[in-house]
Amino acid sequence: MTKPLFQRVAILGTGLIGSSLIHAMRRGAVAGHIAVHDRKDVLARAKRLKLADSYAATAAGAVKGADLVILAAPVGAFAALGKGVGPHLKPGAIVSDVGSVKAAVIADVGPHLPKGVHFIPAHPIAGTERSGPEAGFAELFDGRWCILTPPKGANARAVKSLKAFWERLGSKVDVMDAKHHDLVLAVTSHLPHLIAYNIVGTADDLRSVTEGEVIKYSAGGFRDFTRIAASDPTMWRDVFLNNKDAVLEVLGRFSEDLSALQRQIRWGDGDALFKLFTRTRAIRRSIVDAGQDSAAVNFGRNAAAAASTRALRSSPSRRRR
Ligand code: NAP
Repeated sequence: MTKPLFQRVAILGTGLIGSSLIHAMRRGAVAGHIAVHDRKDVLARAKRLKLADSYAATAAGAVKGADLVILAAPVGAFAALGKGVGPHLKPGAIVSDVGSVKAAVIADVGPHLPKGVHFIPAHPIAGTERSGPEAGFAELFDGRWCILTPPKGANARAVKSLKAFWERLGSKVDVMDAKHHDLVLAVTSHLPHLIAYNIVGTADDLRSVTEGEVIKYSAGGFRDFTRIAASDPTMWRDVFLNNKDAVLEVLGRFSEDLSALQRQIRWGDGDALFKLFTRTRAIRRSIVDAGQDSAAVNFGRNAAAAASTRALRSSPSRRRR
């Protein structure tokens, strides 16, 4: 039998990522006991799904005696969670998170943690546009990268333990400086989401002009943007508010490049357009070759979509904030 890596793990936030963590931990027999905390109604849903071994009404209650604590709520809630759990953490415990930004999380949470507790932030590069405890599945992290951003002077043994944890969940692990992480993710994740939110918003404004034709005749490109733009509003609001500098820097570059494209279209510079589109097609090929996506039609999403639609059907509609 596989030996658990941690006797007691506390997950604060049982949405898509928190519940997927729990499913993956169970599959890998990673924890002796899994305690969870979430907001009252979500906690009740997690309980109905029999996700965890114990359910705490407060974050402080969930972390009592835990060897590993993972913050899996939206990033904007981390400072208050850190403050609330700080005095209740077991000496020697590892505190980590799954937040999509890292420098802000270190600044928000670090000061609330007592000496003798090891803070090792992490970000699994895995997700879907679904939210809530019903959306989680054990395979979410399989073959995906998880980036650890230990602050300077972090305990090497704690970093090693967290690396082993994510590897047991199926991930590949990289270690990176938090600021560098934020810039890389601004390019690969945050800006694409911003573009999707913007393009779908623009199309929605046009809808009144075209009386529904934008939706009715939406081609594959637009449909893919709507999938990304369906991502959780709270989570993404917090990402942009907490990775402001990197996102604005990348957005500046993007706007310049977009102006160049505008000029090329206006002046009929087909060679320049063709050159760019050939370059970007090669990038897509290298992502597929690296095993980070499928070359199947529609990104092979149909099988995954069927599974998550089944999960969604059994989920109550979510409250919007
Ligand atoms: P989610 O499905 O919306 O889950 C977040 C959960 O946290 C919800 O159940 C939410 O409850 C709960 N929550 C909110 N405030 C809380 C608090 N103060 N204490 C305890 N629980 C609280 O979002 P998610 O996609 O799992 O995202 C969770 C974290 O993972 C975020 O920090 C995000 O940046 C990161 N992440 C997300 C992805 C992705 O693709 N989704 C990928 C990598 C990392 P309510 O619904 O009642 O607010």
